[in-house]
Amino acid sequence: MSQKFDVVVIGAGPGGYVAAIKAAQLGLSTACIEKYTDKEGKLALGGTCLNVGCIPSKALLDSSWKFHEAQDGFAIHGINHAGVTMDVPAMVGRKANIVKGLTSGVATLFKANGVTSLQGHGKLLAGKKIEITKPDGSVEVIEAENVILAPGSRPIDIPPAPVDNNVIVDSTGALEFQAVPKRLGVIGAGVIGLELGSVWSRLGAEVTVLEALDTFLLAADTAVSKEALKTLTKQGLDIKLGARVTGSKVNGEEVVVNYTDKDGEKTITFDKLIVAVGRRPVTTDLLAADSGVTLDERGYVHVDDHCATTVPGVYAIGDVVRGMMLAHKASEEGIMVVERIKGHKTQMNYDLIPSVIYTHPEIAWVGKNEQQLKAEGVEVNVGTFPFAASGRAMAANDTGGFVKVIADAKTDRVLGVHVIGPSAAELVQQGAIGMEFGTSAEDLGMMVFSHPTLSEALHEAALAVNGGAIHIANRKKR
Ligand code: FAD
Ligand code: AMP
Repeated sequence: MSQKFDVVVIGAGPGGYVAAIKAAQLGLSTACIEKYTDKEGKLALGGTCLNVGCIPSKALLDSSWKFHEAQDGFAIHGINHAGVTMDVPAMVGRKANIVKGLTSGVATLFKANGVTSLQGHGKLLAGKKIEITKPDGSVEVIEAENVILAPGSRPIDIPPAPVDNNVIVDSTGALEFQAVPKRLGVIGAGVIGLELGSVWSRLGAEVTVLEALDTFLLAADTAVSKEALKTLTKQGLDIKLGARVTGSKVNGEEVVVNYTDKDGEKTITFDKLIVAVGRRPVTTDLLAADSGVTLDERGYVHVDDHCATTVPGVYAIGDVVRGMMLAHKASEEGIMVVERIKGHKTQMNYDLIPSVIYTHPEIAWVGKNEQQLKAEGVEVNVGTFPFAASGRAMAANDTGGFVKVIADAKTDRVLGVHVIGPSAAELVQQGAIGMEFGTSAEDLGMMVFSHPTLSEALHEAALAVNGGAIHIANRKKR
């Protein structure tokens, strides 16, 4: 007889591993199947996020920023030093140690919570049976009352620039360079392209970003995307908008890239090329033909608002389903699904999922932007506060960017918080907490904020919505 669990999760990324831990905490017998192995051939839990995504990219962003500051940012503080050097293999090695610590931490959490960790490729069969193909090729079938599919996503390949994992790489390869490329090309000015482009630019690469769209950061508030384009360009990223890559040819250790823009066909040569044109859901060999689970027209597992698939008792979460491809979205979907399996009526607020781009300055937002609200015909009041007027930002010599709070003109309810500047992600999270509880701009303005903090910029922007900012001249009069 095959083993039977209350919950079987396929995939141990931030969607799957969080769901598995939560299920075990709620007293459900739980197994989690994962196939990913690290360079040493050992099972590595944590998915894209911990192994080749959020965490390693932030590790390199932080290291490269420190190098950049050590070179160009210390003199203004009166710190004089010479001869700062860089050791790329050590930087990449530090990143690998962080990854190892976190992925083995997930294994420890599984043990501590009683989650059964199963290594292999999981495939959903009919009748909530799951076939596991183990590393040695043997096959086992287990059963579940409930199945959670969390297989994540993988980078999109484009025919004009096929990844060879040497000169042309995807985001995973771009986390592994052992030396700084002199001329680095990036296809795609999305979150991943900008973050990875920033890492290598700060370390000395000449970076050119080729983006097919004419608009920069389409999803961001226009004021933020304008400021971001200006600042990133000033930092040395050559961002070419309206530049569609049409072909490439690798010649030894360099690649000649063809692209078209408004002036016609062009070529440019790079030593390395990162393809960062988005990600697609992983569904290869995930579902038996008679599993009953369906995909939508874009290849995502079809789910309802509560992540239920077309088969009762089978759910799907994270990058493999509709919505933003973000670790925190995946994790919260996992929690929602497990709590609903337990009979709770848990809902997820999809309107308040924060987005962050970890460039410098950081870019983050939650809720709607001004152009979206205008298009919906919603009348708004806007308050903006520049970090140039923040004492804390001045002390840190980090004064670029601003906080923008958008509130409904009729009710004063905050509808969006948009930040470009230091600690943008943390500031936006404060806005998200307020918005979850239906805060008005006036509520935020009435709160006591510690001084001196960057958070005061959020306070002042909220006050500015109704013409009450103290530390800048108000555009709107009370
Ligand atoms: P994944 O993390 O992709 O995990 C899925 C797991 O399932 C994988 O380990 C895979 O091996 C396993 N799997 C797949 N199929 C099977 C199968 N059939 N059997 C067994 N196992 C299987 N998001 C953020 O929120 N913040 C960031 O800063 C951020 N930075 C990023 C930077 C980069 C460079 C990249 C690439 C991504 C980044 N993301 C970030 C996105 C984030 O990593 C994903 O949204 C998140 O990992 C999705 O979680 P998931 O659990 O759905 O899938
Ligand atoms: P994201 O989906 O946010 O990761 O961003 C990927 C970006 O890559 C999008 O803005 C696309 O417009 C861009 N893109 C996709 N294909 C190409 C291409 N052939 N040339 C240049 N940019 C591209």
